[in-house]
Amino acid sequence: MERIRVIAFDADDTLWVNEPIFRGVEAEFLALLEKYADPATIRERLVAVERENIGVFGYGVKGFLLSLIETAAQVSQDRLSGADIQKVIALGKEMLASPVELLEGVEAVLENLCRDYSLMIITKGDLLDQESKIARSNLAPYFDKIEILSEKDEDAYGRVLSTHGVAPGEFMMVGNSLRSDVLPVVNLGGHAVHVPFATTWEHEQVAVSAMDQSLWLTLANLGELPPCLPQQRPCFAR
Ligand SMILES: [Mg+2]
Repeated sequence: MERIRVIAFDADDTLWVNEPIFRGVEAEFLALLEKYADPATIRERLVAVERENIGVFGYGVKGFLLSLIETAAQVSQDRLSGADIQKVIALGKEMLASPVELLEGVEAVLENLCRDYSLMIITKGDLLDQESKIARSNLAPYFDKIEILSEKDEDAYGRVLSTHGVAPGEFMMVGNSLRSDVLPVVNLGGHAVHVPFATTWEHEQVAVSAMDQSLWLTLANLGELPPCLPQQRPCFAR
């Protein structure tokens, strides 16, 4: 077995809190539009609009904000006022300025692992927003490389690995999303660790079989990672 030498981390809901910020804004949005439709109807529309828009705008706050405005226009049947549009835009700006709240134990784990491994961040979303969050997290010094991608699929991971001259067997990805952090990496022959977060965005949810789950390791939190690394345990020997 090749020795793992690069460990890459997802950022949102792996290193810091993200999904609750989206959920909080979504709740404010539903309350703002209550005069036009009931919250369940608006939410259902929003999920559908987001699904259509991901391929057009990509991931991140700006695409989400455009989906909020589009949803608002639809559910209000074009009665949406300029003042309401301003309020929706203010919600998006609020998200971009949200403080970066690190998940528990993250810094200690990075400090530990950066001594023996080359660490990377591989994230997706708005370039400026992700760069700003990385800067505000104060975690950048732990990472040798940072990649902000528009999609995290097999092709994208393959490109990142070849750019950095890393063989799949030397690579481990750690993240909260089975769809973006685990499955594409396992399919490429890399190692993956799933650290689920309390809430998962609808568009990241995938169904997996019990058999598939033997291909990666699932941990309750990032703090469980260092004692599990392959020198100590055979869990990654495939
Ligand atoms: Mg994530």
